[in-house]
Formats: sequence, structure tokens, C-alpha cells
Amino acid sequence: MEAWNKLSQMKPQEIKNLQEKKLKEMFQKEIPRHPYYREMLEAKGINASEMSGSGDLRQIPFTVKEDILPPDDRMHPWKFVLEAPSEEEQPKQKGGLLSKLLKKGEKEGGADEYRLSQLFYTSSRTGGKPVPLVFTIRDIENLKEAGNRSFNMWGFSRDDSVVNAFSFVPNISFWQQFHATMELGATALQTGGGRVIGAERIVTVMQNLEAQVLMTFPGYADFLMQSLVFFNVKVPELEAIVVGMEDAPQVLLDRISKNMEKAGAKDSRVYRTYFLSEAKVGWPECSPGNGYHVHPDHALVEIVDPETGEPKGEKEPGEIVVTNLDARGTVLLRFKSGDIATGGITYEPCPACGRAFPRILGDIDKKHYYYELNTSEGKKNLDFNNIRRKLFAYKELSQWYLEIKNEDGGDKLNLKIFPAQGAGENGLEEKLKSDLSGETGIPVDVENTSIEDTLNRIGMEKGITEKRIFDLREN
Ligand SMILES: [Zn+2]
Repeated sequence: MEAWNKLSQMKPQEIKNLQEKKLKEMFQKEIPRHPYYREMLEAKGINASEMSGSGDLRQIPFTVKEDILPPDDRMHPWKFVLEAPSEEEQPKQKGGLLSKLLKKGEKEGGADEYRLSQLFYTSSRTGGKPVPLVFTIRDIENLKEAGNRSFNMWGFSRDDSVVNAFSFVPNISFWQQFHATMELGATALQTGGGRVIGAERIVTVMQNLEAQVLMTFPGYADFLMQSLVFFNVKVPELEAIVVGMEDAPQVLLDRISKNMEKAGAKDSRVYRTYFLSEAKVGWPECSPGNGYHVHPDHALVEIVDPETGEPKGEKEPGEIVVTNLDARGTVLLRFKSGDIATGGITYEPCPACGRAFPRILGDIDKKHYYYELNTSEGKKNLDFNNIRRKLFAYKELSQWYLEIKNEDGGDKLNLKIFPAQGAGENGLEEKLKSDLSGETGIPVDVENTSIEDTLNRIGMEKGITEKRIFDLREN
């Protein structure tokens, strides 16, 4: 853990040196007690305690989800959990009797940093089984720290009232905000999101608390703000909304911000956080468009070609690969996330806040939003990240979901829509049809449906985030 002020003022080279130092410490002090990597390195004839930095890191193959949780071994994730050092290996506690009585020093270097504190799960966005990740006391400290640093970036203080409407599930999205608001001492209501108390009560809570800050996933923030405008409910104290868990394209941020204004909000700032469970913390954007600021003392990010694994140059799009630099409990080296940074990564200082943290730029696309479709020109791999963005850009759509079906031997799309208030007809269905079939090369049906059906189908108040695209083809 590095002091925030010091970290904020470091130059790019100092950040790089810090990451090299942390990586070396991870290799030499921790990885020899890591059951999976120890075995892997031994088999390759590599001695972890002799590895020194990012050059050596490249010798290690990527870790993918299936390595952690193979289909036939539910206990396998425990092989990724660091063993605690033996009594002799532990650093001796410094200080006299008083500091021992106050239990100082336990957080850093003592046995407690290895003690299991919470078990979290990945969001299983791919539809597969969620992967369990062990967080120790030290990891929770880092999670708290990451949340607090974000609040500091955004100018939140203990005088702010915060409504945490991330979904109450064992995932870092809800818990980073929980721990950070507790640490900050802000008035905070941990609602657990729509799945726990529903939209109406979240709005009531926002009004009663005179909340300045709302935190939730982007689809739900959009839904809540639309509802405020529809029912003409005002939230005059609201200043900022923090979104995370799903990628929020700029058009969606703009829409949320506009509806905040319509709902009488004092200010209409919207901030994004990129939660990658395996990184063990969420990374904030200081302001939209400036990239997710990777806490350089917590994790090392590489951007690689999703197919070949070759490293990409600065600002070149590619897959996000993460290595934990300061984790205990579950530790991952070179975890290939399945997330694509469309703008790559940059090491230039941020033009907005000046910090020299590595920044992940552009939208975060999901590899699992690529679908192979039978089009008129044969089989094609189509990017539904783009289609998702396109549909969010339609002002005339309040809610929507998309089904991929197979009918009469060919693939087709079925788009179900609930138009925005006052959107009228104006050939919306035709416009959507030609837009989507032009993009995909397969037939598209557009159908109106009720708001209840949409919310229910996309699970707006059921999961960690909503689901918009359903592949209903067999296999
Ligand atoms: Zn910045």
C-alpha cells in the first residue's frame, strides 16, 4: 500500500520502477507459497525466487478462467490461494509491548494479512460458473483503499450522502463501495440495489437522505433516471452518479446525465469504474473519456492480441491481462480477462488529473459478445458490443433486448423494444430493422413489448447487471 499523495505525484518512470519492485517482491516472497504457480514454474525449471520483473513475467503462460475452475474440479480454485508463511518465515513484529497490545503491524507483514476475510465471486458474465476468489484482510484493505482513492478523485467527502445501489452479491462492485463509504465516514445507505429493495424505495431513500451520490450499474442508473423524469420526481441534491460492472458507452453516460438535469439535480456528473474481479479492485476514470486509472501498486496490466497473445503497443486495442502485485489469498499472474480495451493502454500522464497511472482507454468490449452467425454471405463472427452501443444510442428506445434465433435453417435477430415516452412511431421499427440487418447481414424482426416484459426478461432487478442479448439457438 502506497501513500495516495505520493502515488499521485509520481512520474511515469517512478511508477514503472514501483511496479517492477512490487512484481519482484511478488515473485520472490509470495509465489514460492503459491501451489499452482510453484508447480508450474518448477515444471518449467524456473526458480520463482530468481525472477526479477516484467521481462521474466513473459515466461509465464497466461492464466485463463478454465485454469482456475476446470469443469471437473470444484476445489481447483484453492490452488490459486497463497499458503500463509510458517512462523519462522514471518517478519518479526517491530515495536514494544504497547504496539503489540494495539495489534499494530498485523496488517502489514503479520499472519493476519493471509487470513481469509471474505469470499467473492466473479460476475460469470460468460454464463459459465462464477469463480470464487479469496480475499484476505490485506485484500479488503486494498479494496477499501481503491474505493477511497476513487472518492478522492471525484471530490466526494464525508459530508456527502451516498446511496449504494450496486447489487448485493458477493462481488467487488457492491463491496468496494461498501467498504469505502464506511471508511470515509459518509452517510451511506447500502441498499443492495433493485434486487433487494426495488426502484421505488431506492428513489425514496435518495430523497430522504438528500443524497448527493448514487452508485449502481449503468443500465440501472439509466432506468432510475428515466423513471424520475417519467414520474416527474425531483432529486435536487443529487450531484453525481457512479456506474460500473458493465461497459457504459459515452452515449449512455450522456443520456443519464441529461435525465439527471431533467430531474432537477444540482449537478449531472457521471463517473465510470471498471471492475475486473480478478484484479481484486475496481479502477476509476477521473472523468469520462480519460481512461480507467490502474492503481499501479495493486496490479500490472498488459494489453495483448486476443488470439496470438503477442503484446500490443501503447494505445493499440487488445485484451486486458492482469497480474496481482499486492494481493494475498487468491493470486493471479497474467490472467487473460476476455475484456478488450478498444483504446489500449497509455502511460502518458492523464491530461485531466495529471496522474501518471497506466490508463486503459476506450470502451471495454467483451469477447463473449462476439457471436458466430449464419449470414447471407456464410458464417461470420459478429461483434455485438457494437450493436449494444448502437442500440443505446437510440434516444427513441427506453428499453430493449435482443434474441438470436435459428429459424428455417438460418439465423435471425428478434429485437424487442419499449419505446421512450413521446417517441411515437416515426418509422422507428423500420429504421431499427434496416440498421441492424445492414450491420449483421441477417433478417431482423422488431417487436414492441411492455416495460414489464423487458425489465423482467433483462433481469434489471435480478442479477449483478442486466442481460440484453440472448442466444436462443441450440448449442
Ligand atoms: Zn485522470
